[in-house]
Amino acid sequence: MSAPGAGSGVVVVGGGQAGFSVVQALRGAGYEGPVTVFADEPRLPYQRPPLSKKAHTEPEGLGVDLVPESFYRERDIDLRLGEYVAALDTAARAVTTGSGERVPYEHLVLATGARNRPLPVPGADLDGVHALRSLDDALSIGRALQTPRDVVVVGGGFIGLELAQVARARGARVTVVELADRLLSRAVSPQLQEHLRERHERDGVRILTGTAVERIEGKDGQVHQVLTDQGPLPADLVVYGIGAAPRDELAREAGLAVDDGVIVDEQLRSVSDPRISAVGDCARHPHPHADGLIRLESVQNAIDQGALVGRRIAGGAAGPYESLPWFWSDQGPVKLQIAGLRASTDEVRVVPGDTPERLASYAFRDERLVAVETLNWPAEHLAARRLLQQDPPVSPADLAGSTLGALARARRTKEVRA
Ligand SMILES: Cc1cc2nc3c(=O)[nH]c(=O)nc-3n(C[C@H](O)[C@H](O)[C@H](O)COP(=O)(O)OP(=O)(O)OC[C@H]3O[C@@H](n4cnc5c(N)ncnc54)[C@H](O)[C@@H]3O)c2cc1C
Repeated sequence: MSAPGAGSGVVVVGGGQAGFSVVQALRGAGYEGPVTVFADEPRLPYQRPPLSKKAHTEPEGLGVDLVPESFYRERDIDLRLGEYVAALDTAARAVTTGSGERVPYEHLVLATGARNRPLPVPGADLDGVHALRSLDDALSIGRALQTPRDVVVVGGGFIGLELAQVARARGARVTVVELADRLLSRAVSPQLQEHLRERHERDGVRILTGTAVERIEGKDGQVHQVLTDQGPLPADLVVYGIGAAPRDELAREAGLAVDDGVIVDEQLRSVSDPRISAVGDCARHPHPHADGLIRLESVQNAIDQGALVGRRIAGGAAGPYESLPWFWSDQGPVKLQIAGLRASTDEVRVVPGDTPERLASYAFRDERLVAVETLNWPAEHLAARRLLQQDPPVSPADLAGSTLGALARARRTKEVRA
């Protein structure tokens, strides 16, 4: 195992899903040097997915902590909660905290995540207008949803649609306002977009696509209505989710290569400095399934990238980063799951499941399956994850009249017989 010099070791900036995965893997792989995590939020590292899938007023209700405090203590991990890293000096190999402390490192891992894009309209700062990224945001929204109200969700992406269903379940009247002509326009295939829209409308969520929010108006400092280019909407709670931007300013100011994320190589090392790695939402990386560099915002990506970097620094074997991307979104009664990368596909085939609530779409490029979306069909999603990583690749002909689940079973039987 590597043995760092005194006063150095590994410094991780960011105590989210990816930062946690780094330190878990480091200690799991036997790394014995000093490990310090700077986490600017004043609470134990937590997972974000439950924040948009439930409404609660107390953190315990959301159950988001990744591990208890004892995990860090028992592994001698110096978890510096509420401490912000303000600057990075790559020549001196040291970071400086917001309070001016200088901390040297042998390896630095940037796991700074992303921040929500602000809503660029007048009135976005009124009471009752919320972004949703942190646990505190979720608790404020949970409090606002205690009594049924008029809720306007700005942004028809994953987080907006999940939250719309949470608000409906609380008895609120909910309108989703989306600027694009379709929901989830960049994230899922048009066939599934339509299906999801119908499903949300059936559940009583009003959906306005191709609609721009122009301003938000208040009464006595509290939100009162949302003015759109299609007319006004009453609102006593507005939640917006219009995308996120990577927190890459530390790297940029230190002179590392940055382009909508910290640019890293296939081992997730900064292309500018091999002693610095970047993982999770803040990293832009090569991937065998992508045309160029990509940046992913998903739990799978944060966990797998953190684990690879932790193992590599500990001296273990670390191949190139090539984990299959996968993702889920629970939108009320609908569980959407995606495996693979859908960008630039030439054929999308929609396949009904064995119940009306189940649906899958298979996306092909150059005669091979590259991505699979499923609704309420976890077994098909799991089969997709297996088959997308297997050789030979799945062709359109393999799936003529077959599901992935059936194909996976057939291939297993063939292997057993061979
Ligand atoms: C509401 C919501 C729901 C989601 N649902 C899903 C889902 O269902 N499925 C899925 O796959 N993904 C989901 N995601 C995405 C997923 O949570 C993220 O991709 C994942 O959290 C990324 O982990 P990360 O560690 O890179 O970033 P984060 O979790 O954002 O952690 C980064 C941390 O670093 C801290 N930090 C930043 N800069 C500094 C600094 N200079 N000094 C100290 N600390 C710093 C930040 O404050 C933050 O706490 C969801 C995200 C949100 C917001």
